[in-house]
Amino acid sequence: MLEIRPNCEHCNKELPNTSTEAMICSFECTYCKTCAMAIFKNVCPSCSGNFTERPIRTKEMIEKYPASAERIFKPKDLEK
Ligand SMILES: [Zn+2]
Ligand SMILES: [Zn+2]
Repeated sequence: MLEIRPNCEHCNKELPNTSTEAMICSFECTYCKTCAMAIFKNVCPSCSGNFTERPIRTKEMIEKYPASAERIFKPKDLEK
């Protein structure tokens, strides 16, 4: 089951469950669309995998299986 992390790891943008901008890799590294596509060019900086749009969990299910509240904020060094 997806954790549904609450923010972009790189720019700290809010990415709630209902966001259509959330992108995840197979390890669920979570970024906003701008970071994932414009900055990282669809290559996850942590695992080198590609991104896909994170599906939205329905209201009923989010009550039963809440989204993660744990923020991960690790901006990547773009100089490399
Ligand atoms: Zn971002
Ligand atoms: Zn990754």
